Amino acid sequence: MTNKPYVKLEQITKSYGAHTVLRDVNLSVHSGGVLAIIGPSGSGKSTLLRCINYIEPPNKGIVTVGDVTIEGETPVSRRDLRALRSKLGMVFQSFNLFPHLTVLRNITLAQERVLGRTSAEAELIAMQLLTRVGLADKAAQYPSRCSGGQQQRIAIARALALDPKVMLFDEPTSALDPELGLEVLSVMRELATSGMTMIVVTHEMSFAENVSDHVAIMADGCILEYGPSREVIRNPQSARARQFLRAVN
Ligand code: ADP
Ligand code: MG
Repeated sequence: MTNKPYVKLEQITKSYGAHTVLRDVNLSVHSGGVLAIIGPSGSGKSTLLRCINYIEPPNKGIVTVGDVTIEGETPVSRRDLRALRSKLGMVFQSFNLFPHLTVLRNITLAQERVLGRTSAEAELIAMQLLTRVGLADKAAQYPSRCSGGQQQRIAIARALALDPKVMLFDEPTSALDPELGLEVLSVMRELATSGMTMIVVTHEMSFAENVSDHVAIMADGCILEYGPSREVIRNPQSARARQFLRAVN
C-alpha cells in the first residue's frame, strides 16, 4: 500500500527579476486525482503549470512526477527532463495546432518523432483518439476548417497520443464561446472519469466543483486555500478567497 502522491510540488518559488511570481507553493495530486487551480489573473497559475514540466525552471523547490524528481535550478540532465516531460501532456488556451498539417498529421507527427511509432501505428492511435473526442470525420481536414471547440478537442487528442500519465490544462475553454467550451469540458470530464490524473487551471466553476476532486485557490503567487472541491468552493475560509469566488460566480 502506498499513499504517495503522483505529482508533488514542494516549496516552488519563481521570480522574474525582482518580481516573485510563485512563493513556496506546495501541492500534490494522487494518481487518478483531478486538481483544479483557480484564482485571479496574474496570480501565477500558468507559471506554476510551466514549472511542473520545467518549461520554466523554478528558482527553488522540488518537482516530483512519478519516479522523476527534479530540484530547483541545479543543472538538469536532458535525460531527467525527457523523463519528466514524457509523463506530462499539456493543453493551452490557444490550441496551438500546426496550421499547415491535417488534423490526422497533427496527432501522428510527435508519435513518430518522439515515440518512434510507425506511421501505421500512429494513425491507428490517432483515429482511436479522434473517435474518443468525437472528431473521426475531421481527420483529413485542416485545423482552420474546424471550430475552436473542435480544435481544442484535437489538441487534447494530440496530447493524449503521447501516453501522458498526467494532463495539464491551462484555461482550455477561455478562448471559446460557452457552447463550444461545453464540448471541450465534456471531453475533459470523460478523461477524468477514465482515471487520468489532471491539473486544470480554469475559470469554469462547475468543472472545479463537480469534476475535480480538489481545488486550490491561488492569489499573489501563493496557495490561498486548498482542499476537497466542494468544501473550498462552498465554504472558503479567507476573506480574499470569498471575494474571488463572489466575483466568478
Ligand atoms: P495567471 O496564469 O494566474 O494569470 P501568470 O502565471 O501568467 O498568472 O503570471 C503571474 C505573474 O508573472 C504576472 O505578474 C505576470 O506578469 C508575470 N510573468 C509571467 N510570465 C512572465 C515572464 N516570462 N517574464 C516576466 N514576468 C512574467
Ligand atoms: Mg494564465
